[in-house]
Amino acid sequence: MPRPIRAIIDLSALRHNFSVARRHATAARLWAVVKADAYGHGLERTVAALQARADGFALIELERAIALREAGLTKPLLMLEGCYATSDVPLFIRHRLIPVVHRSEQLDWLLASNWPADLPVYLKLNTGMNRLGFDAAGLTNAKSALAKRHVGSVLMSHFADADGPRGIDWQLERFRAMTAGMSEATSLGNSATILRYPESVGDWARPGIMLYGGSPFPQTKSAAELDLRPVMTLQSEIVAVQHLAAGECIGYGCAFTADRPMRVGIVACGYADGYPRHAPTGTPVLVAGMRTRLLGRVSMDKLCVDLTDLPEKIGVAGKVTLWGEGLAADEVAMAAGTISYELFCALSPRVPVSEVGGWPK
Ligand SMILES: *Cc1c(COP(=O)(O)O)cnc(C)c1O
Repeated sequence: MPRPIRAIIDLSALRHNFSVARRHATAARLWAVVKADAYGHGLERTVAALQARADGFALIELERAIALREAGLTKPLLMLEGCYATSDVPLFIRHRLIPVVHRSEQLDWLLASNWPADLPVYLKLNTGMNRLGFDAAGLTNAKSALAKRHVGSVLMSHFADADGPRGIDWQLERFRAMTAGMSEATSLGNSATILRYPESVGDWARPGIMLYGGSPFPQTKSAAELDLRPVMTLQSEIVAVQHLAAGECIGYGCAFTADRPMRVGIVACGYADGYPRHAPTGTPVLVAGMRTRLLGRVSMDKLCVDLTDLPEKIGVAGKVTLWGEGLAADEVAMAAGTISYELFCALSPRVPVSEVGGWPK
């Protein structure tokens, strides 16, 4: 029998969440962001599930984009970091990949190639995130160089605090100042922007985490409150039960000590499966549909859960949900001091994945 851990990807939830993005950003076209293997959900299955709805797919990894093209995908593909070297350019041309251009060398590589006039580029503007993008002068230069080649462009920027207290107005002001008098289409909003500032997403919005059922601002609004459904559910089973006397500890570092007699379930899931090692005692876990808590230190292949207050019959082979249906990944992430994005992306290749909610045949 295989180890009882598995991840279930609910494609109907993915399509539902996409429709939530549509509902908010009614006037915009939507790039479904599928970088990092669709945030750990599997690139091919995610693209297949959204192909009929998304206006295009945005990712980072060149080899994965080429694989999508080779599998027959004709939808627009946006490469969020563009080219890394001049040798990438012919591949972008051959596979019709739309590059983000964020620094002048990238532009020089395109201009030195036979870049086709009908393949647009995304010009990235730095409006305060201060990671990637042109300033006002760089933008003007880039635009005039592209215009000479009759290559179209879309003006893009990324918000640093769309999910936080600073919001987006300060960056929008800079964006407007930098692009005054320009008539190109724009691309601005990620999930947080789509949900909080739907009027400011630009012509092409870029939803990521919301498609996978994560809240971009879990401290203030849960995914459920945003009408987002979990797509990934990580499940395993109890493989042993321990009875601890008061004063006994459990796991590496003796990081948890029982203060009374306790029943503890040992679950076949650890950090080598993608569960965060830094999740502390108290992190929520579902056992047989009931909420309980993690105890002690997460190890490579196992973690421990409190069964003391659960019915006696729940023991070996009891079903455990680490996150997903019934337990929002955001809750686990918050307990572990991280974000759902990181949990999803960290799902290990050793965890078998199955799908539900595919199109009826
Ligand atoms: C990852 C990414 C997104 C998606 O962000 P979410 O917060 O997951 O919605 C949008 N735009 C860019 C440029 C990105 O890199």
